[in-house]
Amino acid sequence: MAKQDYYEVLGVTRSASAAEIKKAYRKMAIKYHPDKNPDDKQAEEKFKQAAEAYEILSDENKKARYDQYGHAAFEGGQGGFGGGGMNMEDIFSQFGDIFGGAFGGGFGGFGGGGRGQARVKGSNLRIRVKLTLEEIAKGVEKKVKVRRKVQADGVSYKTCSTCNGTGQQMRVTNTILGRMQTATTCGTCQGTGEVISSKPNGSDSQGLIVKEETVSIQIPAGVTEGVQLKVGGKGNEAPGKNSISGDLLVLIEEIPHETLKREGTNVHYDLYISLSDAVLGTSKEVETVSGKVKIKIDGGTQSGKILRLKGKGLPSIERYGNGDFLIHINVWTPQELTKEQRQFFEKMKEDDNFSPSPKKSDKSFFEKVKDMFS
Ligand SMILES: [Zn+2]
Repeated sequence: MAKQDYYEVLGVTRSASAAEIKKAYRKMAIKYHPDKNPDDKQAEEKFKQAAEAYEILSDENKKARYDQYGHAAFEGGQGGFGGGGMNMEDIFSQFGDIFGGAFGGGFGGFGGGGRGQARVKGSNLRIRVKLTLEEIAKGVEKKVKVRRKVQADGVSYKTCSTCNGTGQQMRVTNTILGRMQTATTCGTCQGTGEVISSKPNGSDSQGLIVKEETVSIQIPAGVTEGVQLKVGGKGNEAPGKNSISGDLLVLIEEIPHETLKREGTNVHYDLYISLSDAVLGTSKEVETVSGKVKIKIDGGTQSGKILRLKGKGLPSIERYGNGDFLIHINVWTPQELTKEQRQFFEKMKEDDNFSPSPKKSDKSFFEKVKDMFS
C-alpha cells in the first residue's frame, strides 16, 4: 500500500506554518489516543501515522528533505531518520513539547493502556559498517547479517499471578502517620504483568533464541567516520507480548581512499604533471568521488597551484550542498636527462624566461592554504 502523504495525514496544506502543523497534530493525537480508543487498531494506526508525519514536518531539515524527495527521503525504516520506525515509546516521548507537563508523562505512560505495566525494551545491538568515499558520496544501501535475539516460535505467556497482571505490588507499611500503601514494581514479572507459561526447547530462560537476520540499512550521502545511525526495532527482542525490540546501532567507518583525501565535505587530490605539460599546457582526466572530470591545465602553470572544482566534493549530511574537489598541481621534475636534454637546460640557465619572477597575484603556498580554510 502506498504511504499516505504526511500533509494529508495531518490534514494541512503544504504551505502550513509550524504552528498550524503543531495544532493539527495535537488535534489528531487527542482524537486517536489509545487511551480514548482502547483496542481500536484503526485508531492506533492513525495515531502512529500522525506521530510519524509530525516527527518529519516539525523538523525543519526533515521537512525540507520530505518536500524535495517525498517518502523516498526516509526509506529503509531507520528510526534515526524518522522513517517508519517510530514506536509508542518514541511517540509518547514527543508529547512533552506538544502538550506540556499537563499531558506529558501521566498520559498513557508507555502507552500500555495506563494500567501501570512497564513495557520491556530489548537491548540494542551494535555493528560497524565500512564505507568507501564513493559510497559516502552517493549514499548506499548495505545489507548486513545480524544475530539478534527473538522470541522463539511457540513461546506463550500468562498473566502474572503475583500482581494479577497489574505489574505492581502494593505494600502496606505502618508509619507514625498511620498505614501507608505504596506501589512497587512486581518482582516476579519485573512490572510487565506477564510471565512465560511455556517455551520450546532450545530457547533461553526468557523464551528467546538467537536468529541470524539480514537487515537492510539505508545510509544517507555525506556520513562521516564515527556517525551512528539507528535502525529502529532491529535490536534484540524482549520477552512478553507487549515488549518492544531494541534498536540496531550502526557505527560508520570510512575506508581510506588510495588517492583522495577527505577533509569535511572537501576532497583533495594530488595531481602530478610533467614539466613539459606545465610549460605547454594540457588537459587531464581526473577521477573524482562522483566520476571522471576533464580539466584543462594552462601553459605556464606553477607547481602548487590548486584547481577548485566547485560542488564536486562530498554532500553534507544535512544536505546544505556539496563541498569542492581540490586538485593540487605538482610539477614532476625529471630526475634523469639525456645528453641533449641536459644541454638544453644548461642553456636555459641563462634564459630570462626560466628565472622565477612571481607576481603579486601568485600566492604563496601558505596564503593559498589560508584562503582554502577561511
Ligand atoms: Zn507481576
